Amino acid sequence: MTGIEKDPCAHCEEMMQPYLDHTLTEDERVEAEAHLDACDWCRRRYRFEESLRIYVRQAADEPMPDGLKRKLAALRIPLN
Ligand SMILES: [Zn+2]
Repeated sequence: MTGIEKDPCAHCEEMMQPYLDHTLTEDERVEAEAHLDACDWCRRRYRFEESLRIYVRQAADEPMPDGLKRKLAALRIPLN
C-alpha cells in the first residue's frame, strides 16, 4: 500500500450524487454499477441515499419531524 491509490469506495461516494441525478457518463455509470454490485457497503449507502431522496421529494412541503431526523442521522454511515 502506497496510500496514493484511489479508494474505490471513496470514488463510488463521489459518483453517488451524480448517479442519483443521472448525470454520469455511460462509462461512469457502468463503473458505479459494477462497484455497487460488488460492494455491500456502497450498496447500502446507495439504498439509503435513494430512499432519502424519495422521502425528501414526497415530504418537500412538510417539515421533517424531529424523531425522523434523528433516525436518519443514526442511519448515516460516517465516511471515515
Ligand atoms: Zn464500495
